[in-house]
Amino acid sequence: MTTPLSTTKMPVLFLGHGSPMNAIEENEFVEGFRHIGKSIPKPEAILCISAHWETRGTFVTAMEKPKTIHDFGGFPKALYEVQYPAPGSPELAGEIKSLIKATNMELDYKWGLDHGAWSVIKHLYPDASVPVIEMSLDYYQTPQYHYDLMKELTPLRKKGVLIIGSGNMVHNLGLVAWDKFDSDNFAFDWALEASEKMKKYILNSDHDKLINYRRHGRAFELAIPTPEHFLPLLYALALKEENEDVQLFNDKAVAGSLTMTSVKIG
Ligand code: ZN
Repeated sequence: MTTPLSTTKMPVLFLGHGSPMNAIEENEFVEGFRHIGKSIPKPEAILCISAHWETRGTFVTAMEKPKTIHDFGGFPKALYEVQYPAPGSPELAGEIKSLIKATNMELDYKWGLDHGAWSVIKHLYPDASVPVIEMSLDYYQTPQYHYDLMKELTPLRKKGVLIIGSGNMVHNLGLVAWDKFDSDNFAFDWALEASEKMKKYILNSDHDKLINYRRHGRAFELAIPTPEHFLPLLYALALKEENEDVQLFNDKAVAGSLTMTSVKIG
């Protein structure tokens, strides 16, 4: 933002969003999101990198009023009725376009807020008073590219912008144990193995291991069958500065093949 009201360095979040139903359910994960929202300074604006917006090239939403996108199927009517009317921030979108040198960042006027963004941000800021914009994931790029791209946006943290990566570290919908959705912290062996290694790499700031996740064998192949839910984690980690605190929360598995593990940096 060109005239920041705040100069506090904002933390960075990675939020495991899980099922879209978390938008309207009461559970420990929702409580975790609320708690984290209350534990950090109120931001001037939010930039969300969601697993659910993949594009060719990189876009940033630049409309005044982003619409609430219900990008899922087969859920109860109540979920389709949720609106999250946070304003956009064309000003922040323009600033991001000028900060990014690695690619020609394009301004988008068609997208809005997909559930990767609103299903979690609504728990942090229920009154939708903080402007929210989204940046897309270019599915033609490498993990290293995504990580390096985000480093260019480091200055935004000191301008009151809360940057949120929204995905899931372990995310294999094809292997979900549907009968275990209500079992507390149920993980398949491979999911547990991948999750424990990921957490170790995060807490040790061993980001190269995470960027090169494809080299770690079968557990990681099963945990990350497609990159889109994992890449938002790299976006968040790219903003970590030396000696900053890293905290994990909502650190549980769901239905065998998903983890809700979330990260607060700074
Ligand atoms: Zn998702």
